[in-house]
Amino acid sequence: MNLSASSRIATPAPAIDLAERKIAYFSMEIALSKSLPTYSGGLGMLAGDTLRSAADTGVSMVVVSLVHRHGYFQQHLDGVGQQTESDVIWSPETTLPSVGQEIVVTMQNREVTVRAWRFDVVGVTGHIIPVFLLDTDVEGNDPWDRKLTDHLYGGDTYYRLCQETILGLGGVKLLHALGCKPEVSHMNEGHAALLTIGLLEERLNGAPLRDATEADAEAIRQQCVFTTHTPVPAGHDKFGLDQMVAVLGHDRASAIERFGCLHDGLMNMTYLALRFSRYVNGVAMQHGKVSQRMFPGYRVHAITNGVHAGTWLSQPFQALLDKEVPEWRHDNQYFRSVYGIAPAVIDATHALGKQRLIATVKHRTGVELDPKVLTLGFARRVATYKRASLLFRSPERLVEIAEKIGGLQILFAGKAHPADSAGKGLIRDVFTAAAKINNSKLRILYLENYDWDLGEQLTGGVDVWLNTPLRPYEASGTSGMKAALNGVPSLSVLDGWWIEGCAENITGWAIPDCDDEAAEASLLYYKIEHSVAPLYANKAAWAEVRRHCIAINGTFFNTHRQLGQYVSNAYFPQSASVAASDQVIVDDEVREGVLV
Ligand SMILES: *Cc1c(COP(=O)(O)O)cnc(C)c1O
Repeated sequence: MNLSASSRIATPAPAIDLAERKIAYFSMEIALSKSLPTYSGGLGMLAGDTLRSAADTGVSMVVVSLVHRHGYFQQHLDGVGQQTESDVIWSPETTLPSVGQEIVVTMQNREVTVRAWRFDVVGVTGHIIPVFLLDTDVEGNDPWDRKLTDHLYGGDTYYRLCQETILGLGGVKLLHALGCKPEVSHMNEGHAALLTIGLLEERLNGAPLRDATEADAEAIRQQCVFTTHTPVPAGHDKFGLDQMVAVLGHDRASAIERFGCLHDGLMNMTYLALRFSRYVNGVAMQHGKVSQRMFPGYRVHAITNGVHAGTWLSQPFQALLDKEVPEWRHDNQYFRSVYGIAPAVIDATHALGKQRLIATVKHRTGVELDPKVLTLGFARRVATYKRASLLFRSPERLVEIAEKIGGLQILFAGKAHPADSAGKGLIRDVFTAAAKINNSKLRILYLENYDWDLGEQLTGGVDVWLNTPLRPYEASGTSGMKAALNGVPSLSVLDGWWIEGCAENITGWAIPDCDDEAAEASLLYYKIEHSVAPLYANKAAWAEVRRHCIAINGTFFNTHRQLGQYVSNAYFPQSASVAASDQVIVDDEVREGVLV
């Protein structure tokens, strides 16, 4: 697929007060627009939603990421669910204005020239958050280096470390060259941790890092904020010392070692970020506690994730809210006022989203779903801990329930990383299970190429959002928040955000925690049959549930609130909250022995 053909020619970017911007936000992936393949999943979506809220609420921020010319990938599934992939190639030249500034990063013992493209995230009042997308495809660079900013999460660890070097060191250099003097630098995940070394080099003003003192390190620490996003060990990048030296050179490598950033004999991006951050946080309250336990030497806070309401509310809900409380666009607390809108109106508004989803499913698969039938959605990155197949633990039981409750429709979607053959197997498992049990009462479909657009239609169109991760690996999860905004309750394991969002029978249902997966599956079936279906059959009561989802969870699980917490707790903390943060609290309820 090539996106450049349909793209417009870039227009010059408006002038921006770069020298005044206070926060620099760094992320390896960002979902900037539906037509740019610069993200893979939740992390990039969260980054994009955060920036959209920053634009809407006038936060003083600049952003750095990589251009990812070949994107993540488009997913193709054959008849048995075998995934293949194709690149999504785009051309920033024909899409975005150039920043008109090049910088040079010394790495792998040679110089790499880096340029940048500017994407503007524009808020509801016109406030602009400029995003600089770094690009090494510059004439004169070594041919291998020219491809360093092509593939998001592609290549081997050496390629990855080179990318992280460009993001961290290149990003700091670019901002400096553009006259930015941010007071705070935020690492969205450890991928960006080398920005700390970039800031240290900038502070030393050309002197080698071997001259850096503890006071220099502390000065950098005072400027940095770090968000860790997953308790899954594979989500924390680690590199061998030989790679570290080969890419970064001896001076930087020995500084990283001397400042205590190695862990288990490896260069560990999480520990580098922890060492140089004055504020560290997890992405939901429980994830803060789990991370605190993983990194006992550091104080870990928590700011629960959110989603950008203007991005995830379906068009019909946007129109309804614009009529009732237009202020919601810059202040999401107004969602509480849906209690002033009749439940039947909320229900009718949701029905429009369901209709649209049903039309999309028909268009893509030829299958016509029934708008009256209870419809569950399950869409996420395919990873073992997300357990897409828990619902198929006992297929006969599912068939029996579908018959008893007057029908059941289940929509799946999700991509496996191209190198993850186990993940690809999980997709085939869903196909196999579905092929065996699909009948006139039970319809199970797996939709191809889960992305922003499909995510929006699913979360805005199904009746119940299903989530069955293995505790405590779901750090937050955000798709259920998108559903809640659209009046869709969740049926979920009590993990991540759902511990905070679940009010039983009001905003959805909890699948109780069990040690044994078979028992957990049977509780899941029990809830569908005895809690979800009876309530769904009562139209008036269900409409009330929809309204609670928006009023209770929509009001809180949004990025306007999340970013407000970052500003007041992390970026520019008040003295009182800093003092309160000195205590380390570890909750014994977070089970030990789960994390490896
Ligand atoms: C929201 C979203 C995600 C993240 O959802 P989780 O609930 O965290 O799994 C991933 N991919 C896409 C396309 C999304 O829209």
